[in-house]
Amino acid sequence: MDPLVRASLAVRRVALRSAGLASALALGGALVLAAKASPPPLVLATLGLVLVAAALHRLVLRLRRLEGAHVTGLDSALFAHLMVLGYAVVLVSPGGLSGPYYPLLYALAMLAAAFARPLAAASAVVFALGLEVLLQRWVLGADWLHAVWPHAALLTGFATLNALVFRAEITRIRALSRGRVEAELTRVREAARSYRLVTAPSGASALGARGVATSDEERLLRSGVDEIHQAVDFALQLLRRTLALRTAVLLWLDPSGQRLHIQELSTEVDEIATGPFEASDGIAAAALSSGRPVSLCGAHAGAHLRHYAELPVVGGTCAAPVFEQGSARGVLVVDRPDRTPFSEQEQALLVDAARFVARAIENERVFVQLERAKSEQGKLYRATEKLASATTEAAVIEAGVDSARELASFDFAAVTLFDRANKEHEICAVSGELADALVGQRFKHNTGLVSMVVANRHPLPYRGDYAASRQMVFSRRLAPPELPSLLVLPLQVHEHILGTLVLGSGRKGAFGEAVRGALEVLSSHIAVSLANARMMKRLEELATTDGLTGLYNKRTLLNLVERKLKSAARFGKPLSVLVCDIDFFKKVNDTYGHDVGDVVIQGFADVLRRVKRDTDVVARFGGEEFVLVCEETDAKGATLLAERIRSELESTTFSTAQGPLRVTCSVGVAPFPTAGADWEALFKATDEALYASKRGGRNRVSVWSPKLATAAAAS
Ligand code: GH3
Ligand code: MG
Ligand code: MG
Repeated sequence: MDPLVRASLAVRRVALRSAGLASALALGGALVLAAKASPPPLVLATLGLVLVAAALHRLVLRLRRLEGAHVTGLDSALFAHLMVLGYAVVLVSPGGLSGPYYPLLYALAMLAAAFARPLAAASAVVFALGLEVLLQRWVLGADWLHAVWPHAALLTGFATLNALVFRAEITRIRALSRGRVEAELTRVREAARSYRLVTAPSGASALGARGVATSDEERLLRSGVDEIHQAVDFALQLLRRTLALRTAVLLWLDPSGQRLHIQELSTEVDEIATGPFEASDGIAAAALSSGRPVSLCGAHAGAHLRHYAELPVVGGTCAAPVFEQGSARGVLVVDRPDRTPFSEQEQALLVDAARFVARAIENERVFVQLERAKSEQGKLYRATEKLASATTEAAVIEAGVDSARELASFDFAAVTLFDRANKEHEICAVSGELADALVGQRFKHNTGLVSMVVANRHPLPYRGDYAASRQMVFSRRLAPPELPSLLVLPLQVHEHILGTLVLGSGRKGAFGEAVRGALEVLSSHIAVSLANARMMKRLEELATTDGLTGLYNKRTLLNLVERKLKSAARFGKPLSVLVCDIDFFKKVNDTYGHDVGDVVIQGFADVLRRVKRDTDVVARFGGEEFVLVCEETDAKGATLLAERIRSELESTTFSTAQGPLRVTCSVGVAPFPTAGADWEALFKATDEALYASKRGGRNRVSVWSPKLATAAAAS
């Protein structure tokens, strides 16, 4: 940006920011002057109107708060304006600053303390104190001790006190609501765990870093728990109404199977014990151990109930176990004041209710699992899409690590690629700590986890637990950061292993069963995409290069040369084209065979690669004919290069199956644009120069010239 524009923008910004304060100062000054000079009523009325308008304007600005505006600045300007207005009102009220309306200013200070940012409130109070001092001392001539100090102290005191009380209250409310949210979360998590909506290992993984559930999973569990609650609550209420019960309670076994806690409750009494209760105690224990409903009736029936803090009169009670997949998970316990025993039919109803509860839980469990699988599928689908659009090895690796992040939370990721020929691994991408130190490093195939995964094609370590002191990941010298969880996944396509994906997490048990499945699927997607990217690269190489020499083929060179000629023409730079052709090559083929001929062609390609500059482009044009395009090279430079090629080939001995062999070549050189302004003309010129070399006795270099062209035409 132009410095002048930048400076003017900065000035504008400062002006905008300080406009509010400047306006408040100006209005405050006007008020002080008006109070001192007692101007005519018209001036006073105008000042009053301006004050009201300015304060309203500031209020509107604050309420509209445009993007990027500083709240503190807006607040301080607004309250400074309100203070000026407040002083004006108090000054014209009966009694002035010592009159009964002065507390209006305390109210304004309190308002600022309550609603403005602390800094804005403080600046508004300081501004008010300034006004106060000016008005009291300079305008009214009051003494410090009796007028100024008490007002100033009270103004500050009110503001501070209000700020403290208000902020303490806000903190308290925040803490309270945070506590409520936490308690609710804990309740949902515990209920989800006891209904086995989360299994132990996946429970750990469902709860993200620091045990906080990831929002999707949290929402899923909450809705699962709510659905079960509604279904069970409905069943309990129905039971209560149909069987004239006082209480119907679902007691649930904890994972140890030793204790029962209240899972759902429908009752008309308040004195319910919080639990947990021994599972080997009372009527619940009898139902659990017998596996059948148990019913008691009479004066002592209540003595077998544990969930009352204060036992009401109980005439009869009945308990039915709740089974899930053949094992008892809880008990449905009901009681009523009436002494009529629970009939066979009533007991059967209770057993049906227990089955209904079990089915509601099972349904929800299946639903949650389905939803979870659906979300995982969605993530994998997105990963596949991302991977499919990555066409290079680097892009595939980046997309792979990105996708893994959607499936599991980790702090470290690396991709290693296996170089089978050299029995080495290369760390090609790292995200997280130590990235700079690890990327690009190679290590030998050894007994580390990466090598073992490559050898056995199985993820390691077994449970994803990692101890840096005992386990080696890459090599003795190269290690990932010390993290409690680590997983090395094979990147393999069918039986072909390409490398590994290494993930590390600072959280214990981060790579439990629940995430491993999805990560394994992802790694095989990454491997397939990696193999595709490699194949595409190979195909591209095949399409652009010559199979025998690895040099560009004719088509690629023609594509490149178009651009080079355009650029040379536009910038007026020199460019030269060389054609090299091996002398009497037919004889080589005829004498030693085609295979030896091939060796010579490859050897000549190596000579060309060695001798040319990096910016020169060389291609095999066909047979034993090679073309070089040299940018920024005039006829003189091109001749030197041609001569170097010629002499280098002349002094090279090829070792072939038929013994050592030496060949020579002839070169034709044509400079652009003198020899030709387009490719066709230029190439024709090099051909003419090459022809001149051949005619001249071979093993030589000729540069195109008009004379040479005439000679070629004549012959
Ligand atoms: P001159 O000095 O005039 O160039 O004589 P020459 O024998 O080299 O003639 P020319 O350049 O026309 O010969 C090209 C020969 O190169 C013809 C063909 O048998 C041989 N050739 C073309 N492609 C290949 C190849 O891929 N491998 C082998 N071994 N020979 C090839
Ligand atoms: Mg030849
Ligand atoms: Mg030839």
